[in-house]
Amino acid sequence: MTEGPELSVVIPAMNEEDNVQAMHDRLTAALEDVVDGLEIVWVDDGSSDSTWRKITELAAGDPRVRGLSFSRNFGHQTAVTAGVDAARGRAVVIIDADLQDPPEVIPEMVAKWREGYEVVFGQRTQRDGETIFKRFTSAAFYRTLRTLAHIEIPLDTGDFRLMGPKALAAFRAMPEHNRFVRGMVSWIGFPQTAVRFHRKPRAKGETKYPIKTMLKLALSGFTSFSFVPLRAATWLGLGVASFALLYLVLRTALALFGAVVFGSAGLVASIFFLAGVQLLAIGALGEYVARIFEEAVRRPLYLVKEHTDGDTTVIPPAR
Ligand code: UDP
Ligand code: MG
Repeated sequence: MTEGPELSVVIPAMNEEDNVQAMHDRLTAALEDVVDGLEIVWVDDGSSDSTWRKITELAAGDPRVRGLSFSRNFGHQTAVTAGVDAARGRAVVIIDADLQDPPEVIPEMVAKWREGYEVVFGQRTQRDGETIFKRFTSAAFYRTLRTLAHIEIPLDTGDFRLMGPKALAAFRAMPEHNRFVRGMVSWIGFPQTAVRFHRKPRAKGETKYPIKTMLKLALSGFTSFSFVPLRAATWLGLGVASFALLYLVLRTALALFGAVVFGSAGLVASIFFLAGVQLLAIGALGEYVARIFEEAVRRPLYLVKEHTDGDTTVIPPAR
């Protein structure tokens, strides 16, 4: 029962060479005396700098450290998944490599887990060093998703969270390619609770989440946990058709009392408007179809180039 370390910390990293050592130092300092056995699992998500070398050096000097590197960049959510797959601890904490999520909060998460919670997520009370644009889009996204999703996703949380053994078993069994980790963990259920923390600016380097990547993540969130974009077409169609009918009746009534000429500008505008609505609906459909296709093809979620412990497994465990 008490095999393996009590806690594994999973860290996805893409081009984080200047954060690796600092992260390691703060993690070990914060957790050494708190947990009964610690493991640190680094996932190098196709870095082009010296991140992987830094990880292998850490692993060579500290038996608590393990790492694996992907054959290419597979993205943050997949890197988190690979780290959780590889972790041997009874509980797992996921944390960003850039020190935005303070490792010093982890002992509080562990305490909540020991109290009986299966999932303890970090909830940010304040965010420093992020652009107004990022804060605004992020707040808008989480609030919209909360309204549209068919699961309860807590506001202002990232992937900084602890999962206990039952949540881990569930997460490891989830096969989807489209991985919106924070939604998946909410979907799991079990007793969940929050630990509040103050999100700091990134320690070193640049954000790895440009707008394009943020949009992709947002779309994954919507398509994985909401059917509202699909159903929107039905309601829009109903609305437009009702309007058209009403208009027809009104026009006929008006025509009986005198000539009303329908201007070509109005005609052109309504054609463009309806074409826009239709394209939007087809686009929404396309997003879901593309995802169905991806799931149907069933490629491995990621491929491993190298493990620090000499393991040569390339393909992830079956789910
Ligand atoms: N990351 C990753 N693969 C990617 C992009 C990001 O593993 O393709 C990692 C990154 O190294 C960091 C975490 O995911 O540890 C969060 O990324 P970042 O801090 O750039 O996102 P932000 O905090 O700006 O939203
Ligand atoms: Mg960050």
